[in-house]
Amino acid sequence: MSLPPLILKRNEDRRLRAGHLWVFSNEVDTARVPLTAFAPGDAVEIRDHGGGFLGSGYVNPNSLICARILSRDEHYPPDRAFLVRRLNNALALRARLYPRPFYRLLFGESDGLPGLVVDRYGEVLVAQITTAGMERMQDDIVAALVTVLKPTGILWRNDVSIRELEGLPLYADTAYGVLPERVIVEEHGRKFEVALAGGQKTGWFFDQHDNRGRLARYVPGRRVLDVFSYVGAWAIQALAWGAREALCVDSSVAALALAEHNAALNGVRIGVRKADAFDGLRALHADGEKFDVVILDPPAFVKRKKDLAAGRDAYRRLNQLGMQLLAHDGLLISCSCSHHLPAEELLAAIQSAARHVNREVQLLERSGQAADHPVHPAIPETGYLKAFFVRVFGEPR
Ligand code: SAH
Repeated sequence: MSLPPLILKRNEDRRLRAGHLWVFSNEVDTARVPLTAFAPGDAVEIRDHGGGFLGSGYVNPNSLICARILSRDEHYPPDRAFLVRRLNNALALRARLYPRPFYRLLFGESDGLPGLVVDRYGEVLVAQITTAGMERMQDDIVAALVTVLKPTGILWRNDVSIRELEGLPLYADTAYGVLPERVIVEEHGRKFEVALAGGQKTGWFFDQHDNRGRLARYVPGRRVLDVFSYVGAWAIQALAWGAREALCVDSSVAALALAEHNAALNGVRIGVRKADAFDGLRALHADGEKFDVVILDPPAFVKRKKDLAAGRDAYRRLNQLGMQLLAHDGLLISCSCSHHLPAEELLAAIQSAARHVNREVQLLERSGQAADHPVHPAIPETGYLKAFFVRVFGEPR
């Protein structure tokens, strides 16, 4: 079976040959193949101007990224067996790296399946589709997941707003089997309960696994502030590693209730404060509170490139508020999951924040996302998480 071709303009094949998987709509030779000939999600063969095969994948005429490559093998179109092979390849990495079955099993483009993300909570899988092409393959995806992992349940968390760019509806729904309301995640030997349908993103932030592991040597005996705490992952890990006290700040009552529940599950006690982070930090400062370790792990402030200036400023203000709460010789863990904010700019925001409050900073560790979120070197968008471990000293102003 050969698929209808999507033909590129002259020289527009270079990026794809260098490893990228996306075709932008202005790269298509629409005089020869009008994009309007396709429906969102149609399977296509992507060919260069001379007709050379580049890959098979899927198209969405309504999206700026109008096509994505799945397979680069002309004789191996993306069918169910193909999905099984890609899933097995993704699983092989995680099974080698993680002693327990809690991780991002599949990370879109980086694992060769653009538009699909799958998280694993033991026998329960949470999957998220972000493109019309993958939406068409839903049944095959579920069948492939069942073949490879034999889960008891699969949930679609197809409720992220970027789906709207592809003209897809937002919904969360059972894809397969039976789903509990909550699942347990194990991380560094500790247990956390997360809500499947109502939680943030797919329920748990696996990308911070290694960074939370890095806490261990910094926290014994220390007082810790976990800002944007969600269900308490950082705070509870800190306490489990010997922190003296930990306070969670988040604007979500449901998240904080789960954080308290999770603390109990691990035999520790946390404090919680429901507040907008900026307001909450100001209030803590006004009360004269001090912490030895402050963790800032906010949602992305720069969701689109045009938000960069405003986002950069928000990171600077947030880091400044965090630093004001640090005792004389403290540790700031400053994260950003905004792809559009380069690491150096976050570091510059930290340095600038330090000068504003007359503190000195030393960068101790710089890190990114855990290995279950591998980066595709040709697709910079796949590398998004920054985590800086910064010593902050000098008397606070
Ligand atoms: N640190 C968490 C992940 C954070 S997710 C972890 O490691 O698991 C982002 C969290 O920020 C969510 O729980 C959300 O409720 C919270 N949030 C978003 N905007 C906020 C704001 N302005 N003030 C306080 N919390 C906020």
